[in-house]
Amino acid sequence: MHRGVAVATWKFGQAAVAASGAALSDGGSAMDAVEAGIRVAELDASEHSVGYGGLPNEDGVVQMDAAVMDGATLDVGAVASLEGVRAPISVARRVMTDSRHVFLVGEGAGRFARKHGFGVEETLTDEARRKWQEWRGSPNRNGDGHDTIGLLSLDADGNLAAGCSTSGVGFKEVGRVGDSPLIGSGLYADNEGGAAAATGLGEEILKFCMSFQVVEFMRAGLPPTEACRAAASRMLARRPETAEHMAAVVALDPQGRAGGYATRDGFSYAVWRDGEATYTEVTVVRA
Ligand code: ASP
Repeated sequence: MHRGVAVATWKFGQAAVAASGAALSDGGSAMDAVEAGIRVAELDASEHSVGYGGLPNEDGVVQMDAAVMDGATLDVGAVASLEGVRAPISVARRVMTDSRHVFLVGEGAGRFARKHGFGVEETLTDEARRKWQEWRGSPNRNGDGHDTIGLLSLDADGNLAAGCSTSGVGFKEVGRVGDSPLIGSGLYADNEGGAAAATGLGEEILKFCMSFQVVEFMRAGLPPTEACRAAASRMLARRPETAEHMAAVVALDPQGRAGGYATRDGFSYAVWRDGEATYTEVTVVRA
């Protein structure tokens, strides 16, 4: 019997899937693996796009977005513009299990977190503050980089789960939310179709409900990488200007096959499968 599979976006996905693999090897569920893996990236202060150490908004406040989805039940939980929690994925999971609702934002998300035992934590590191100060003093105040940890898992019982977490676009407008916590855009999981998670410019990804689309392509029979490629192609065909931006997606099907694709070069993802880890740098082939 297999011990499970975990797939995660970007270079930081490597440490994340290792933690997910440890959770799966210990008999954890796909959702346990998603939370354990994403927390590793969130708690790494050197990562400036996720969790603790993430770049703040234009006011110098770190606002985070995170979500989870259970492929067995289609249960979901999400938070957006959450402040004062270093690992928002755990709050998103708690919203799924302990709230009457599925999506809490801003002040309400923070209040829910405190009610459920999450303390108020410092989320702005000295380095992130310094970058914000530089940005404030620069004549050309463009946003800074952004990435998301999107993590998908299949456990030994055959259940899929998906999660993602980001601090969003650096120096974003206060309250800005991208695709990541939006079910269907940033992530989707259904045991009967597969799981997917997106990363890249949220303002574009959410126009296509990219993760849902990838799951639907798998449900229709495409293998994971082909499903991701089909979603990227549709995006590029409908809005050619997206070619300038990164929009990428990873996918995992109910058989445990994993893949990923993007609108342009530069995307990478990590896979853990039965104790073996691999890392793939995606090369985009334009038709
Ligand atoms: N999708 C994220 C957002 O728009 C950022 C990223 O993954 O690059 O907030």
